[in-house]
Amino acid sequence: MATQDWSPSSWKSKSIAQDVAYPNSEHLSKVLSKLETLPPLVTPSEIERLRYQLGLVQRNEAFLLHAGDCAESFDACTHENISAKIGLILSFSLILIWGARLPVVRIGRIAGQYAKPRSSKTEKIGDREVLSFRLDPNDRTPDPERLLSAYFHSTTTLNHVRSLLTSGFASLHHPRDWSLNHVRSPSLRYEVLAEEQYEHTVIDFTHSKEFEHIVEGLSDALDFSRTIGVESGPSFEQGGDRGTVGGVDFYTSHEGLMLEYEQALTRAFPLPSAAQTKATAAPAPHKPKAFYNTSAHFLWIGDRTRQLTGAHVEYFRGIRNPIGVKVGPSMATDELVRLLDIVNPLKEAGRVTLITRYGAGKIDDHLASHISAVQKSAHPVIWICDPMHGNTHTSSSGLKTRDFGTIISELTSCLKIHAACNSRLGGVSLEFTGELNEEGFSVTECVGGSMELSEEQLGLRYQSFCDPRLNFEQSLDVAFLISNYFKK
Ligand code: PEP
Ligand code: MN
Repeated sequence: MATQDWSPSSWKSKSIAQDVAYPNSEHLSKVLSKLETLPPLVTPSEIERLRYQLGLVQRNEAFLLHAGDCAESFDACTHENISAKIGLILSFSLILIWGARLPVVRIGRIAGQYAKPRSSKTEKIGDREVLSFRLDPNDRTPDPERLLSAYFHSTTTLNHVRSLLTSGFASLHHPRDWSLNHVRSPSLRYEVLAEEQYEHTVIDFTHSKEFEHIVEGLSDALDFSRTIGVESGPSFEQGGDRGTVGGVDFYTSHEGLMLEYEQALTRAFPLPSAAQTKATAAPAPHKPKAFYNTSAHFLWIGDRTRQLTGAHVEYFRGIRNPIGVKVGPSMATDELVRLLDIVNPLKEAGRVTLITRYGAGKIDDHLASHISAVQKSAHPVIWICDPMHGNTHTSSSGLKTRDFGTIISELTSCLKIHAACNSRLGGVSLEFTGELNEEGFSVTECVGGSMELSEEQLGLRYQSFCDPRLNFEQSLDVAFLISNYFKK
């Protein structure tokens, strides 16, 4: 499926937003040559399986959970952080599976989410004007060695994720291993939507009790299927060897920002026969090839780098991976359709996920017209809601934060608008963390939620060095809310 006039380096002829100017280009070339020889982090068959599963999300047969840190750091690459993240993603998805009775496709913002776009090129630290932070807050001089470090930290993280997933930690047969010790709050309050009116009502209940109930139900269901022998029956996965009910699929993702890095990890592989269309089918030995970005299963284009004629869109149009596009309030409706024409000209299912992030106060002005334009264009897309990035503000103490109520408000509006437009929300994209401090307490970065975190408490355990994340309890609040919505 060679994309016309495209190569892994064709983005270089376009103007690039958010570029990093390396002072020593020889050093950069040396690092990139090394990266080009290193093995892929993920395989084409895993990428194809994700494309297939995203096709199911698009047909309303599965739900997508995209979640993790705003930015990973090399220092935070530890067993504790990785297992807490996987534990939270699994707990969240379990609540969704149970309530919505749908399989959940899990994509972590993990194993490569190191580079960040910045709102301005430089920032003031004291009275010095320095380059804005990208990879390391302590050293602002762009250093190509960090690209290699990013590769190796991604490798280590992914290796640990893979071992957690295959060693029983993540088995749905043993949910207590990864979940219950996290559900600590004895009595939490959270808001759910009243059935019809989408109004907020406050309900009292105990998270841990509700979660315990889900875990028991799940164990019973798995025992039952084991007993009657349907465990290895048809699953929603295709082409893999993990067709068992208790097994867990997990995919990695990051924003495809540093195109030199992405290019170095882009490799040509034969297109699997199932993925060949009439246009691409060819007799052996001329098996058509496709370019896979092997640094992650899923990559997305950020809201700051989605210019139609820019370098990022050019790079993304040629890779075979499923991709995400952030859609904010500045996206014009015709621009959105033109973008889809560029990155998915054959209108392939599972290829594009639109991650909307308008802000609670702006979603009403934009989402409905975006949905209607995409419906008219007949582009198959998955819509997911990112209720985080349009709702960031600075607290009175100067910390970047988000209000739980505002996050829920955008999510609620999103569900309502999709329903009114004869569309459906296919998933959510969240910044959350299961990270605990040494005493076992959650981070305090977003205000509100069932734990009613106040602005004054933000400083207690503020650990993010990029955007504020929901903590474990606040994340489960969101999971129960979505799960209850889809239960109806
Ligand atoms: C992000 O996802 O961390 C991010 C920077 O998002 P956006 O491009 O939507 O601002
Ligand atoms: Mn972010």
